[in-house]
Amino acid sequence: MITLPPLPFEKNALEPYISATTLEFHYGKHHQAYVDNFNKLSAGTEFENMPLEEVIKKATGGIFNNGAQVWNHTFYWNCLNKPDTTKPSDKLLKAIENQFGSLDNFKEQFSNAAVTLFGSGWAWLCKDEFGKLYINQTSNAENPIKNGLTPIMTIDVWEHAYYLDKQNRRPDYVKDFWHILNWDFVNQLY
Ligand code: MN
Repeated sequence: MITLPPLPFEKNALEPYISATTLEFHYGKHHQAYVDNFNKLSAGTEFENMPLEEVIKKATGGIFNNGAQVWNHTFYWNCLNKPDTTKPSDKLLKAIENQFGSLDNFKEQFSNAAVTLFGSGWAWLCKDEFGKLYINQTSNAENPIKNGLTPIMTIDVWEHAYYLDKQNRRPDYVKDFWHILNWDFVNQLY
């Protein structure tokens, strides 16, 4: 049995890039529905009280889809904050420059992964046990934890993440993401 974690900011905190209306639906309806469905489907099974990271590794079908989507959304909210308030740490910046050439190149590659993902899913920045960075795309509820990687940043590219604000313009939503990315959260996980 899980409960919907509180949003780590006010519903209007991400404006003008993500509206309070989007958050009312995305957090209040979609995220809530994943919590409710997970509780319904996992009741009486081995997954009922399992940490969601374990559910992601072990479950399939509806229990996996809903459990992973609960984790993915909680993680995504933590990746966001008030516009233009944080920046990468020296340590993370150095790793990004080593692997991607520059922060701008990294942003371009990550944005490209987010924009080109076909259908619904997520783009991720992950690290492995050696601190090497990876940009990943996953479809639907899939999560790189399943492949042994540790997510340190994500963007939700399901249409429900941007449709009310941007309609079909996913590239505009991805461009705006950089203004509201919570680098402090990413720094802490790297
Ligand atoms: Mn979503």
